[in-house]
Amino acid sequence: GTGADHETDVVVIGAGQAGLSAAHFLRRAGFANGSGFVVLDHGKRAGGAWQYRWPTLRLGRVHGIHDLPGLELEERDGERPASEVVSEYFDRYERAFDLPVRRPVDVLAVRYGEGERLLVDSATETWAARAVINATGTWDRPFWPYYPGQETFAGRQLHTADYPGPTGFEGEHVVVVGGGTSAVQLLTEIAEAGRPASTTWVTRRPPVFHEGSFTPEHGRAAVARVERAVSAGRPPGSVVSVTGLTLTPEVERARAAGVLERRPMFERITPHGVAWADGSTQRADVILWATGFRAAVDHLAPLHIREPGGGIRMDGTRAVAEPRLHLVGYGPSASTIGATRAGRAAVREIRNTIVDVQELV
Ligand code: FAD
Repeated sequence: GTGADHETDVVVIGAGQAGLSAAHFLRRAGFANGSGFVVLDHGKRAGGAWQYRWPTLRLGRVHGIHDLPGLELEERDGERPASEVVSEYFDRYERAFDLPVRRPVDVLAVRYGEGERLLVDSATETWAARAVINATGTWDRPFWPYYPGQETFAGRQLHTADYPGPTGFEGEHVVVVGGGTSAVQLLTEIAEAGRPASTTWVTRRPPVFHEGSFTPEHGRAAVARVERAVSAGRPPGSVVSVTGLTLTPEVERARAAGVLERRPMFERITPHGVAWADGSTQRADVILWATGFRAAVDHLAPLHIREPGGGIRMDGTRAVAEPRLHLVGYGPSASTIGATRAGRAAVREIRNTIVDVQELV
């Protein structure tokens, strides 16, 4: 044996959109619960990272949540928080397809075992698997850039991942850092809710707003860009972050109110604010880092599959340096539609490689 506590054909790590899609296709391919596959997730409940998103991220304001295969997201009330809706939907999904999701299980390491299996460790258990589908998303790895003086700041620093919603900033000056959709949403709602809260927006590059709504062409162009990065082994930018900013009615209003006048990136942080290279300063009570996320893949470090540039070189969903490992929801598939498709693609490849699984037709 392998010395592991459990032997299973496939371990899926993460029960977000990508992990549940993979689980669905494993089930359809005939893999049995337990000996065939298991899904390990460190969330407290169903919902992937959506369960942690701020309450004012309402269903009607997200880019769009693609259905998981085989069961529709029926909710149509755009005013409900996406976190609630998605948690309910994923919970219903896990039950409908009897998916073997174990939670909370925090995967600490994926490593080489003896023989043909990869070992997947939590703090208390080890699974030995013929293939691993990593679907751990990005939420667990918020990206905080460093600026000189950051540690001297006397106010509060938050990341999008900690954002509680727009209340609690009344009377404060909030500097929002970042050029993505989240930055714009957070600025807009803090400025609207917290009067007399005031805001400053800083971004590295001038933000680009699309007239009209988000189109499939924007999506495809963004995916193609990230695809090129990961096939070259570079770290992926997020698909959502490269799709640009859309002019919704809220954004139009904020723009008209002057909330979206952007300043270039500051040079350093002082105890009471931020300072630019030209000598100008801004007092701040809060710095809100809407600076995005990186792939949550630290637990894959023992496999030594990172390229010198920091990325994992991919061929489709497969890691080039370790063909038993698939990454879904990574890079070009880091959207709800991409994650769903990647789950299917990974399972198709795994079926073709695990030739000796007797119970499969
Ligand atoms: P996640 O939903 O992050 O799921 C990963 C799961 O893995 C989580 O349950 C996590 O707990 C678990 N996990 C992580 N590490 C471990 C570990 N070591 N051990 C065990 N479990 C682990 N995309 C869209 O298509 N449309 C949108 O409208 C949209 N809006 C977004 C809004 C925000 C604010 C953000 C940050 C992203 C948004 N995205 C959107 C992108 C979104 O992240 C993806 O579309 C998709 O939901 C990600 O699914 P996933 O399964 O890859 O990851």
